[in-house]
Amino acid sequence: MQPAPDAFRTPKGTNDVLPPESGRWAALIAAFASRAGRFGYGLVMTPAYEHIEVFHRLGEGTDVVRKEMFEFEDKGGRKLALRPEGTAPVVRAYVQHRPTAPWKVWYLSPHFRHENPQAGRYRQHHQLGAEVLGVDDPALDVEVISLAHGFFRSIGLSRFRLAINSLGDAQCRPGYLDALRSYLRAHAGELCEDSRSRLEANPLRVLDCKVPGCVEVTERAPQLLEHLCADCKSHFEAVQAGLDAIGVEHEIAPRLVRGLDYYTRTTFEFASEALESAQNALGGGGRYDKLAEDMGGPPSPGIGFGIGIERVLIACDAENVLPTPVPYVDAYVVDAVGPEVGAEVAALLAELRETGLSADRAYGGRSLRAQTKSADRAGARYVVLFGRAEMEKGAVAVRDMESGEQVEVPRSRVMAWLHEHLGKTHRDGAR
Ligand code: AMP
Repeated sequence: MQPAPDAFRTPKGTNDVLPPESGRWAALIAAFASRAGRFGYGLVMTPAYEHIEVFHRLGEGTDVVRKEMFEFEDKGGRKLALRPEGTAPVVRAYVQHRPTAPWKVWYLSPHFRHENPQAGRYRQHHQLGAEVLGVDDPALDVEVISLAHGFFRSIGLSRFRLAINSLGDAQCRPGYLDALRSYLRAHAGELCEDSRSRLEANPLRVLDCKVPGCVEVTERAPQLLEHLCADCKSHFEAVQAGLDAIGVEHEIAPRLVRGLDYYTRTTFEFASEALESAQNALGGGGRYDKLAEDMGGPPSPGIGFGIGIERVLIACDAENVLPTPVPYVDAYVVDAVGPEVGAEVAALLAELRETGLSADRAYGGRSLRAQTKSADRAGARYVVLFGRAEMEKGAVAVRDMESGEQVEVPRSRVMAWLHEHLGKTHRDGAR
């Protein structure tokens, strides 16, 4: 059978990430890992797929679960789904392993949603996230939000807004939902079809609808913040005061609800001001105080967020920050002699690398000119040249690729020479 014409291309809505662009991913991930580490979060890794029930716990009223999951059966007939979001697997892991609370973890994972691909929206995207289970202290909400906020700042983003809201809890939300439902029923004629169908089961989602008619109706709808019980109200006030105390600017967005049903109390979203509204969501999250219990665990409040890597990179492009790294190696070894110095070239290269320098060489017995070109392309700071004339004197030539100057260095001294000269100008790990 002939393969389909596009069989050997990425499936719809997925992307390859290649060097040098992947260097930006590496920088982004390293910045997040280091920040999460400084905040006391450990890396958690969970499978790319889970039993489908794990995601059903997110609420079957959500698009992510209802329409967008990649579901499949294994050979034993078990129903599984590729991870559409990051919180449910982490909570499942918490319930399964019962680590000591508070359990503070971060993750980096691919997420799969059967969406209609468009700019900034893919079928496989990647998220950096953090979750904390076991504590409902508002100071922790502040910590989690500032972890994300400072991460955006650390990679150079400045044009983004942080919106926060409280979704209440089992005490106060039902009363609010009743009030919202009656209001929406009275205005059902002005709502879009989608919103009308959600009105009874999931009225909060109507607040999320971007259709102009719905926006007009929901702007005048009763607000959650006016229905919060005393506990939720004081929790929310403490979060705002905590953010103010550490200078994290935020705005209150009374109609901010999130796509997933399990959120309680604090909910938040980061939006880029440099991007169109269809793709300006950089990340978001919130509290989910009942999710662990729902999965059969002990009562364990939780809070977390997910940040979309692709989206953040689009925002970086728009703000002109986090450029693609320029290729760089400390030393590039060029062989102008041939096989008789092969072992020596290999030994020098190994030693350079083992002593902490970045080093490379050309392969395949290429001409001197071709090797020098490769050195240039690799961004070599110095070229170490094995030439016949130098060899006879037990030396190599070292060329400074910035100044073009070339010196002869005894072979026994070349390692020390490079370390000494690079020590002055060393660009740490810049690849
Ligand atoms: P969510 O889990 O829906 O709250 O999404 C968290 C973040 O992931 C969003 O703010 C986006 O930055 C990103 N994101 C969500 N869905 C997609 C998608 N289909 N393609 C690319 N990024 C996405």
